[in-house]
Amino acid sequence: MRVSIVVRLGACSVLLLAIGLSAQQLPAPPPKPDTPAITAMIEAARKAAAPEFADAVHFWCEAPRANRLDDPPIVPTQILDNVYAIGNSGTTVYVVRTTAGLLMIDALFANQVDTQLLPGFRALGLDPAQVKIVLVTHGHADHVGGAAYFQEKFGSKVYVSAADWMLIENPPPARGGPGPAGSPAAIPKHDADIVDGQKITLGDLTVTPVAVPGHTPGSMAFIFPVTDRGASHTAALFGGAWLTPNILSDQALETFAASVARFRAQTSAASVDTLLQNHMLMVPIQSKLDELANRKPGDRNPFVVGMAYQKFVDVMAACTNVNLARRKL
Ligand SMILES: [Zn+2]
Repeated sequence: MRVSIVVRLGACSVLLLAIGLSAQQLPAPPPKPDTPAITAMIEAARKAAAPEFADAVHFWCEAPRANRLDDPPIVPTQILDNVYAIGNSGTTVYVVRTTAGLLMIDALFANQVDTQLLPGFRALGLDPAQVKIVLVTHGHADHVGGAAYFQEKFGSKVYVSAADWMLIENPPPARGGPGPAGSPAAIPKHDADIVDGQKITLGDLTVTPVAVPGHTPGSMAFIFPVTDRGASHTAALFGGAWLTPNILSDQALETFAASVARFRAQTSAASVDTLLQNHMLMVPIQSKLDELANRKPGDRNPFVVGMAYQKFVDVMAACTNVNLARRKL
């Protein structure tokens, strides 16, 4: 039995992280109980979801939470033949190996470079100086924070969408810039723009970006080929999924819903079957890593979810609709 708890937070997760507060320390507005119609929407989402996404329905529709600075680090792991995961259970960086060096997706907070990111490279036997490209999913500090370090130290080229370069280069005053509170804001210099549909190639890897505005104006998703034990698959990472809906205006949430619909069509056309997220809180990454550690020959890779990938996108869409409906109460 799951207990339905509706958590409504009025503050931005990144702001919370930046000022070092946990969500629990904020006075939460009294939650309004869901109407029977909304409860029915959640039940329909649960019924439609593949069993492996029951957790995702609970997280997104009933008990969302922001990532936190104290989310426990994960064991740096090679999760696919060409993909490595580094970071913590709340926020993950993926390093993709190509014939022309490494491509890194996101860069954690600036103050996690020394504590999580570089130790992760070392543990995996990867050379951080081989990172040629850093793709930033969106311009919040928990994704772009470490990018300037890689740019300065290793000459990595930093790619961000034009709209989120704006966000990074002109941070809203309340957020205090892309560094966590107390550390200098490290703003990478403007190397390159990520443009919807404009493929990014490094060696034998080609990444297709999909614009998914909503969480930020320039949030991006990425679709790219991966292999697992030699078999070809197609991965997608929706880089701007909301964790706490109340940081989004009504309009941003509507924009987000439209982005999810567009992303669904594109991932369906590309036959995406492999699930990667930068905040794997709704499909907990640690249980996938545990499964991977105990994987026997013939077992599936827990990140390769097959055609159920679309069901994951459907959960994100359904719970966004639930939140839009809550706002009309
Ligand atoms: Zn964000």
